Amino acid sequence: LSVCVAGRYIPPHLRNKDVSKNGFYSKSCGWNTAKDAYSSFGNNRGKSAFFNDRGNANRGRFEHGGFGGGGGGGNSRWVEESRDDGDWSKPTPRNERLEHELFSGSNTGINFEKYDDIPVEATGQNCPHHIESFQDVDMGEIVMGNIALSRYTRPTPVQKYAIPIVKSKRDLMACAQTGSGKTAAFLLPILSQIYADGPGEALNAAKENGKFGRRKQYPISLVLAPTRELALQIYDEARKFSYRSRVRPCVVYGGADIGQQIRDLERGCHLLVATPGRLVDMMERGKIGLDYCNYLVLDEADRMLDMGFEPQIRRIVEQDTMPHKGIRQTMMFSATFPKEIQILARDFLEEYIFLAVGRVGSTSENITQKVVWVEESDKRSFLLDLLSATGKDSLTLVFVETKKGADALEDFLYREGYACTSIHGDRSQRDREEALNQFRSGKCPILVATAVAARGLDISNVKHVINFDLPSDIEEYVHRIGRTGRVGNLGLATSFFNDKNGNITKDLLDILVEAKQEVPSWLESLAYEHQHKSSNRGRSKRFSGGFGARDYRQTAAGVNAGGFGGRGGRNQAGHGGTRGFGGGEDPV
Ligand code: AMP
Repeated sequence: LSVCVAGRYIPPHLRNKDVSKNGFYSKSCGWNTAKDAYSSFGNNRGKSAFFNDRGNANRGRFEHGGFGGGGGGGNSRWVEESRDDGDWSKPTPRNERLEHELFSGSNTGINFEKYDDIPVEATGQNCPHHIESFQDVDMGEIVMGNIALSRYTRPTPVQKYAIPIVKSKRDLMACAQTGSGKTAAFLLPILSQIYADGPGEALNAAKENGKFGRRKQYPISLVLAPTRELALQIYDEARKFSYRSRVRPCVVYGGADIGQQIRDLERGCHLLVATPGRLVDMMERGKIGLDYCNYLVLDEADRMLDMGFEPQIRRIVEQDTMPHKGIRQTMMFSATFPKEIQILARDFLEEYIFLAVGRVGSTSENITQKVVWVEESDKRSFLLDLLSATGKDSLTLVFVETKKGADALEDFLYREGYACTSIHGDRSQRDREEALNQFRSGKCPILVATAVAARGLDISNVKHVINFDLPSDIEEYVHRIGRTGRVGNLGLATSFFNDKNGNITKDLLDILVEAKQEVPSWLESLAYEHQHKSSNRGRSKRFSGGFGARDYRQTAAGVNAGGFGGRGGRNQAGHGGTRGFGGGEDPV
């Protein structure tokens, strides 16, 4: 396959379709190959690479183990500050080593015809028109070059809508999941704006502060994410798109050495990716000031609330020095829209556009879903059978219910001679990163994970997802099996089902039917029995309409006129009840 194919984004549910008809080389795309990107920057070969690496000096986080706060580089403060000066819209010289490090690992994929069929619904006043290609909007030389280096040949559905919305300085609330390309959907337009506008006041503030020996940083953009893993993933994307720019991205998260993170921040921070708790800590230590933060992103907002981060988020956004809504630009991403999220949106966003991106993925026909009846006591031996039938090098992700269960199963597989590893909430940050690396690299092609630990991770290349323990809600099931369809190959998902999984029966049946999968007859009978037991429950509404959620402003006219009665209304919402897809529909 050609280089260009490698960058073609394939929504999971459309991957593995016929390649031949599609023409990889889009005519409108002037950035088809990495080579084009290089040449468009002019010939900078031979120039000092010293400056180039400045924004990215803390590289090799995984390669060298541990968080790479401060390693490498050796840049003096003078170099850093002098580098902030100058025209931010112009690319800095190339650095081939860094370029290779950042861009060599892009996804592979196959083009497909039905790319554009994924429905996207944008609601809100004066919604900017969506784009069809990256060339339809002027994002500047640096961003366009990095898009080409990343080998993204065309925008994903969420990008087509979100990029022009953010570029036209509108706030955004988007229902999109990991795998949809949502990270680039906000990073590209934000960075493009920062490159165009330059650092402004933030630069002077940092310099002034530096004169007094304090090294407080004033990021221009802040991205809040629920977990360390997601934060790191966003940071890695930010490194790509800030290549050859004066923007230095940083990441801070809990569970890792704060001293190292502080040292890394002190080398300059224009775009900060953070988990809420650690950021509050950094703010209280006087290391971060949000006075000039013009762009705020809340990624996986529902997850952050589920994890209890609301007080920290409000502390960061409302009770410190961050510019008010309407002055800053705010983007919120969430897979679901329970009432709590809607309230947060109302409090943080100004006249926002609501984007509902059609369900990407998970119930697709090209993921083969198998449900097998396996008693608890037979699960391990059944798993061994499955593993021996799977190719040695294919990555297999095994989901279990509990942390204890994850440890026990990892031990068991290890004793059976399988190279496996695990991630769950009790494992240290270092262990988790290590485990993920070993899995991704194929050193340990079996990863045992709890749902919480795996949430939001862009683990690609997974051939087989095994639900050793099925989740109790279908949304989680959909998330899990979506891990297989990420690289254009046929995915396989096998779920062990027994008496304990009664509560998911009906939804599981619906999903299998919808995705035209084989339905075991026992599952049909069970679902039938179940439905008749719980008479008040018809067909699940979760998946109605094909969207993850809807703009509540459209469905509940009364809401803005006091329909949810201020923050107090939150308690009445009943969080759990609206967690499913379609949870955005206001119950009133
Ligand atoms: P995300 O939903 O942000 O986690 O992105 C999922 C994966 O898709 C990441 O590995 C991205 O690098 C990749 N990706 C995002 N946008 C594009 C695009 N336009 N073309 C190709 N790959 C993309």
